[in-house]
Amino acid sequence: MSPSESHQFQAETQKLLNIIIHSIYTNKEIFLRELISNASDALDKIRFESSRGTDIADPEESLEIRISMDADKKLLTIADTGIGLSKDELISNLGTIAKSGTEEFIKQVAEEEENPDTIIGRFGVGFYSVFMVADEVRIKSRSARKDEPAVSWVSDGMGGYEVEDLDEEMKRGTVIDVQLKEDCQDYLDPERIKSIIKKHSNFISFPIYVEQEKVNTVPALWKESKFSISKEQYTEFYKFLTFDSDEPLETIHISVDAPVQFSSIMFIPKKSTFMFETFPSEYGLDLYVHRVLIERSNQDIIPQYLGFVKGMVDSEDLPLNLSRQNIQESALIRKINTTLTKQVLNHLEKLADNDAERYAQFWKEHGRIFKLGYTDFGNQEKFARLLRFNASIHEDQEGLTSLKEYTERMKTDQKEIYYISGTSRAEVLSNPHLEMLSGKGLEVLYLYEPIDEFVMQSIGKFEDYPLKAAEHVNPKDLEGFAAEEAVSEEEPLKKEEEKPFQDLLAKMKEILGDRVTEVRSSERLKSSPACLVNPEDGISLQMQKIMQAMNKDGSVPKQILEVNPQHSLNRNLLKVYQQDPDDAWVKKFTEQLFETTLLQAGYLADPHAMVARSFELMKDASNWYTEVKQL
Ligand code: ADP
Ligand code: MG
Repeated sequence: MSPSESHQFQAETQKLLNIIIHSIYTNKEIFLRELISNASDALDKIRFESSRGTDIADPEESLEIRISMDADKKLLTIADTGIGLSKDELISNLGTIAKSGTEEFIKQVAEEEENPDTIIGRFGVGFYSVFMVADEVRIKSRSARKDEPAVSWVSDGMGGYEVEDLDEEMKRGTVIDVQLKEDCQDYLDPERIKSIIKKHSNFISFPIYVEQEKVNTVPALWKESKFSISKEQYTEFYKFLTFDSDEPLETIHISVDAPVQFSSIMFIPKKSTFMFETFPSEYGLDLYVHRVLIERSNQDIIPQYLGFVKGMVDSEDLPLNLSRQNIQESALIRKINTTLTKQVLNHLEKLADNDAERYAQFWKEHGRIFKLGYTDFGNQEKFARLLRFNASIHEDQEGLTSLKEYTERMKTDQKEIYYISGTSRAEVLSNPHLEMLSGKGLEVLYLYEPIDEFVMQSIGKFEDYPLKAAEHVNPKDLEGFAAEEAVSEEEPLKKEEEKPFQDLLAKMKEILGDRVTEVRSSERLKSSPACLVNPEDGISLQMQKIMQAMNKDGSVPKQILEVNPQHSLNRNLLKVYQQDPDDAWVKKFTEQLFETTLLQAGYLADPHAMVARSFELMKDASNWYTEVKQL
């Protein structure tokens, strides 16, 4: 037996150990993740050596990790049958720090005088993290190189360590005895160890046994070829990840090599998990580095508008000791995000092309969140192609069309795509601005959600066709389209009536005063007597309402009142006016007409005057009616 040799840790290592030993970092359980990932790396290496025919020690040993605990001795043991370490390797690999991440860690502690406990979790500190829980660590290892003897390494993590050749027989691999600190005895509980493994190391590709029981039972499906994976396997994996009892609507499995290597399995659930949220906060993909879970629901790898996607990403290009802050700043992570986004959008496009019904199912469940993508300018064209709308061609609110389909149905010479907003189809249908368009048989998209307005503003046009709110359509621009429905009740004004009608409009403006910017004759209305119009090119009414809600502004914006000269209500009013411009009924009627348009546009805050007037007018009408009927 050779004598034991004492070694000092390299100065950097000593600094690091000092920080770790004195740390009161609460998430100490990550030490196990580090030890298991080292064991897994060592097993990967031996698998590689044996696959290329190297003559290794104990070739019959199965590749596995075994964890056991001895409560009496307060000992936690992690053993692997991996590549093992020679004496020189123990000295160079565990005595010095070669990792840039660790150096960076020490630098930050020193330079920023930051409390190490706040940053210890941001850096995976590798093997040394075991000293957060250990008074002493004893390693026995036997290299896979046949001529190397078994060696031992012992340290309390203070100043140095002892190495010596072992005279006892040992098979290839490494056994790490962790002498647990007094306050870390909970790691003697097998259940606690199992739950830590399930949390961080569930997808390690070698079996991990805790006291004979195999803990990691779900295979890392994303590492396998997608052609070898059955639908049932994907479903099982989905249920494992999401706790959903249903199967997923869509499965996206990708492996990318450039510009950054990663694999990912993503799912689109059948049901949205964001019932009431406008902007989802609980979203993200689980981030793995080399099968080790780094962060659950990481939000840096996927944009919010794809927040309905559940799943995971595993990259070999990222370092295991990736801190929270590093993730956010990482260019690699950004590249993963960009690539993933494109892949998901491509998948949705393919789905839309191949199975419209299934796409509609996706849209009804997740479209509301997806629409947040109007801010993704880089993918705007794809995004626009994936949008769906209910429209005037549909029989009910269930129908959906794409912008592409809309353009294919457009009339010859139609140069714009029309839309109109309202909280429901019934509300949209009662909107007077619809009349002019539907009267000419022009298709109109119906928008039911506030976000739709932002989407339309942001994308601006589809292919070469501008998206236009119905209320901004200039009737002159539609003169080329023949009327398909004639719903006007009255003949157009006679030549001699035109001047008096203009006078009536002036009178109405006088009555309404500052409440409107203008009262004018309408060319857009067919069956409604009047409507409110925003000055052209201004924002749409719906948008104005959204802005007001955001600014808690309850005022009524000043608009133009348009009066339909071909409506019998207004023609009767004209008769009364021509007979006596100061007839009290002209004022009463004008007030009622205006307030009704306000009500219709959703701006009538206080209806009591209108209601009182309404009863009066009903009383008048009933008097006249009974008179006519001679009752
Ligand atoms: P990293 O794993 O990032 O290299 P660690 O501090 O976790 O850093 O480990 C340092 C080195 O110690 C590893 O690179 C490896 O060479 C060696 N090592 C640690 N654990 C084992 C093990 N179980 N078997 C073989 N080598 C190991
Ligand atoms: Mg490691």
